[in-house]
Amino acid sequence: MRALAEHQAVPTAEPPALDADRVEPDAAASDVVRGGQTPGRRQYLTLKAQQPDAILLFRMGDFYETFDGDAEICARELGIALTSRPMGKDEGRIPLAGVPHHQLERYLERLVGAGYRVAIAEQVSEPGHGLVERRIVRVVTPGTVENGALLAPAAHNWLAALAPAPAGPDQQPRWALAACDVTTGELELQVLPGDELGGEWARLTPRELLVPDTDARGAVAGAMLPEGVLVTRRDPRRFAVADATEALCGQFAVGTLDGFGLIGLEAALGPTGALLDYLAEAWPGALAHLRLPRPVRGAAHVFLDAQTRRNLELFAPARPPSAGETSGRALIDVLDETRTPMGGRLLRLRLGRPLRELAPLQARLDAVAAFVEAGSERHRLREQLRGLPDVERLLGRVRAGTAHARHLVQLASGLARLPVAAETARAAGAAAAALIDGAATDGAPVAGALTAAAETAALVAAALNDDPPVDPADGDSVRTGFDPEVDRLRALASGAREELAALETAQRERTGLSVKAGFHRVFGYYLELPRAQADRAPHDYEPRQTLAGTQRFRFPPLTALEAEILEARDALLTAERAVLDRVLAQLAAAGPAILRAAAAIATLDVAAGLATVAVDRGYVRPKLASGGALAIEDGRHPVVEHELPAGEFVPNDAVLDSESAIVVLTGPNMGGKSTYLRQTALIVLLAQCGSFVPARRARIPLVDRIFSRVGAQDDLAAGQSTFMVEMVETATILHQATERSLVILDEVGRGTATHDGLAIAQAVVEYLHDRPGGAPWTLFATHFHELTALAATLPRVTNRSVAVSDAADADGTGEIVFLHRIVAGGADRSYGVHVAALAGLPRAVV
Ligand code: ATP
Repeated sequence: MRALAEHQAVPTAEPPALDADRVEPDAAASDVVRGGQTPGRRQYLTLKAQQPDAILLFRMGDFYETFDGDAEICARELGIALTSRPMGKDEGRIPLAGVPHHQLERYLERLVGAGYRVAIAEQVSEPGHGLVERRIVRVVTPGTVENGALLAPAAHNWLAALAPAPAGPDQQPRWALAACDVTTGELELQVLPGDELGGEWARLTPRELLVPDTDARGAVAGAMLPEGVLVTRRDPRRFAVADATEALCGQFAVGTLDGFGLIGLEAALGPTGALLDYLAEAWPGALAHLRLPRPVRGAAHVFLDAQTRRNLELFAPARPPSAGETSGRALIDVLDETRTPMGGRLLRLRLGRPLRELAPLQARLDAVAAFVEAGSERHRLREQLRGLPDVERLLGRVRAGTAHARHLVQLASGLARLPVAAETARAAGAAAAALIDGAATDGAPVAGALTAAAETAALVAAALNDDPPVDPADGDSVRTGFDPEVDRLRALASGAREELAALETAQRERTGLSVKAGFHRVFGYYLELPRAQADRAPHDYEPRQTLAGTQRFRFPPLTALEAEILEARDALLTAERAVLDRVLAQLAAAGPAILRAAAAIATLDVAAGLATVAVDRGYVRPKLASGGALAIEDGRHPVVEHELPAGEFVPNDAVLDSESAIVVLTGPNMGGKSTYLRQTALIVLLAQCGSFVPARRARIPLVDRIFSRVGAQDDLAAGQSTFMVEMVETATILHQATERSLVILDEVGRGTATHDGLAIAQAVVEYLHDRPGGAPWTLFATHFHELTALAATLPRVTNRSVAVSDAADADGTGEIVFLHRIVAGGADRSYGVHVAALAGLPRAVV
């Protein structure tokens, strides 16, 4: 017997399972030793060998048991007790820890959240004599979770696969990358040069990565792998392009992949095949939800490396905020006014991958503009979208076969609302209407998809009760009046129930006692008398069970009725199940249409959300151009502005043109240099995502890359303190920036001795200035005043500085007031002493 306390360690756990509930169905659980190992032990070891890297949850009756090392891990990670059990004379006692089956989801979440892979072995034959058959039905990993707390509603959950690709024309090593989100069915693939891999990891932040397990040269071991990802090594043969082509054709029921627009990306089929193969093993259900692959081409997008993404704080603040700091928000936090999880995910996709092409950006901006103009439609649409369920992920469950009736009802309620939202959007003007007509993921019209989605929703609503049980075995899923067979059987079942009530009344009259009929899971139907009346029971009452206050009896006529009742109930459940299956099949068949409709709604949601931001915070439509000067009038930092009390943020202009391609920005610490640099980059980035921008006016020539670097600061938390890192990063920029790139350099050269630092900073400016093909747009903030002299000799360099009030005296005694205003010319001095005074250094030191 195992102690009660064993399953109690989880604080939020339901009452612990009693050992009495641990029905052990077969010899696997038995302590009877036949030979060296029990048969159950042998079965366990066979399954474990199929998934040696996973924790194996081995279903035994009402529990999932773990053994050996797995048990030790589970005991530690889940706070459940570790015991042991004899498993054969060769084995001695085996460590054991288990969780009750109905708490599986919660424990799974914790194990997978902690980065483990978990295999679930279920009983697949009916318990009878001998060993129950068991099979691994699912492997749950961080990249293949389908629901629960591990999924953020508005974020993707990427499972990626990476393999070396043949080198490009420039002989640079390249990588083939595929990524899928099993919850939404998205699948994308690309081939990218080695130096872009880091940026892609920062964008995707995959939860799990498949790589070929090989020692060959160019193997993935040498690649930069993302941090905090579960790396799964797979047989290199699973990355074979030829097999993948076949698998993809099979998956999407096509004879050739020619229609997928994958020319030049053939190498990426390898990792795509590896993904399909992995899913087939871990979770075959997920394959049913996969969509056509989406080719990603670097040339279409603004390249942002990992460092730049971090510095610009797109999705997370660069460092956690400390007490008293206003910061601690990322761009997404102030930009996301979407109302649906689908819209939230789409916005993140766009923000992570700004565009370089004019036409699609204009279409996005047109849509935002339409919603800015049409205020009442915008409000109405956002009301209609509020609380819309996650249609994509719910459909995923349907297609994967893990949906229960409540999911169907939820999905239907969402689908029913889509056409209404689409109509509202149409009313907002042609540009918004265009989103519905052309926003489909694969270019097909959306109107038909919306109708199909609504029809499916109507079917579900007609077929199922509003609040069906999670477990179909509880009955009452199907609405009365929908299916004649269900209605007929339901009438029969209720007739039997009436007979039961009649029998109860008749027995009361016959005996004059307080007879009650009842049902017990194991004993079936019984009659019950209060203990005090038990000895007056008639002879045909056969005592069965004595409880504290009552006595239960078997009664033969009731037993006959029981068979009838149970039969009717079984037939009814079967009929209900059939209706559910029919509904599921219809929903699955409508899958592609539903996804198209959901995609259209997501684009509407994003457009209306961005319009809301624009209206509420005074953003304007940027004028996009394919060349010419960059000119921002009264630009603001979207996040800093949001954090400050209204009206306190001081707007600033930014102009970068042929005379001033490189701006050297000087001024006091805390003056606002970093803010100015980042706001310029963010405005460009927002414009190239198709958002309005925080400025009075902005002309943005499309850039191909954005680089952002902050000079070395001893960022010990990040484990990078070195000047070396700063220099490596600077070198990357010097190699990669083109005349169409935007470069912001914040205090580069600071991390070493003044002399060296200054020399490096100056050389960097000169190098960028003299770059063949033209200097990139560059903002260089620095404490090296000496750099302002460069403007005299380099024609494309201009000085700007941050203004401070005149109250600051030259000797550092006056009080400094930051104006946060960027003005022409270099700063005359550094005000370092003023800032020191401001920071409260003792007067003697100042
Ligand atoms: P350092 O040289 O010490 O890094 P800095 O010159 O880069 O300083 P920032 O970090 O950009 O200065 O700004 C310092 C603070 O000033 C910010 O936290 C912000 O609150 C405020 N600030 C910056 N720019 C503005 C602005 N334009 N309007 C209002 N407040 C601003």
